[in-house]
Amino acid sequence: MDTMRAGVVRSFTTDLEITEVPIPTIGPNEALVRVDYSGVCHTDVHAAHGDWPVRPTLPFIPGHEGVGRVVEIGDAVTRVAVGDLVGNAWLWSACGECEYCETGWETLCPNQRNSGYSVDGSFGQYMVVDSRYCPVIPDGVDEAGVAPVLCAGVTVYKGLKMTDTQPGEWVLVSGIGGLGHLAVQYAVAMGRRVAAIDVDDTKLALATKLGAEVVVNAALEADPAARLQELTGGVHGALVTAVNAHAFPQAVGALRRGGTVALVGLPPDQFPLDIFTTVLFGLTVRGSIVGTRKDMTEALDFFARGLVTPTFTVRPLDDVNAIVAEMLRGEIEGRVVMDLRD
Ligand code: NAD
Ligand code: ZN
Ligand code: ZN
Repeated sequence: MDTMRAGVVRSFTTDLEITEVPIPTIGPNEALVRVDYSGVCHTDVHAAHGDWPVRPTLPFIPGHEGVGRVVEIGDAVTRVAVGDLVGNAWLWSACGECEYCETGWETLCPNQRNSGYSVDGSFGQYMVVDSRYCPVIPDGVDEAGVAPVLCAGVTVYKGLKMTDTQPGEWVLVSGIGGLGHLAVQYAVAMGRRVAAIDVDDTKLALATKLGAEVVVNAALEADPAARLQELTGGVHGALVTAVNAHAFPQAVGALRRGGTVALVGLPPDQFPLDIFTTVLFGLTVRGSIVGTRKDMTEALDFFARGLVTPTFTVRPLDDVNAIVAEMLRGEIEGRVVMDLRD
């Protein structure tokens, strides 16, 4: 049997194992992809550590920012051909038939499958995609640079839409990591004025470089929400990508009356929501999960037109456990993209 190298999660308390596993086989609607690059998302860390209420079944291969060329297609495939550049995405597939799929909310499909969680992902030399759902990468784009768009990019692009802000209005981006540094760029490209909050001055310097007009270091400020109110008059919308529960009430507290906060970050915690202000100021607090195929096409188009440019470093699969450790310590600037070409 032909094998490939992959990073495999065998338990929620040990490192990923870099090992040889069988090259997966495909069904009628699926395509086999030779992975060239894969981004490492903080969700992969949550998956590998079993952080969330629904855990993946062990063993599994994480990764949902994979990009590479199709090498084989199933009998029923029409949307992609051998040689096409495609990606995987958190939304590996959906049922296409439920009320959510029918109404353009395939990201809420109860029968969806997720790359690197319920289906093996892109931390390996080959991956399987569902040809009806996989992102098709526009011609001529940088293949390593596009990887972070496949989760981080589409997620923040959709999340920004979910803040219901308009051009010229303030949006707060909380957490300037893999997702947040792209959120700053999408928000600027969408005509929003950007405020950024993080606990690390290096991340905030990146936010400023990318177009944030206001930055607040939550670790140094006694009352970060009050400071943001002072600097912006209250933000019209906020997008929380931080992996820390404290960031959530701070974002709510930074909202202007009538404002909306879209929650995207997924620390396995709760946060207190002040009922009185939420009611009297007419605030909206909502969750936002990745994006649909249409959101993906739009998010990729922003990238292809040079309106967003991920900050990333390229590293080998062998570094995966070091990358996870650095991510947990908050040491990564932008994204890490792993090179799986050899
Ligand atoms: P990351 O580790 O690259 O970035 C997290 C950032 O949060 C870092 O810059 C860190 O400094 C910052 N941070 C930490 N504590 C903070 C605080 N108290 N206040 C403000 N900022 C703080 O992670 P990422 O890959 O960008 O992912 C972020 C989160 O989003 C993860 O929980 C991930 O699972 C989740 N996620 C959600 C979706 C979705 O669809 N909802 C999609 C992708 C990722
Ligand atoms: Zn992700
Ligand atoms: Zn469905």
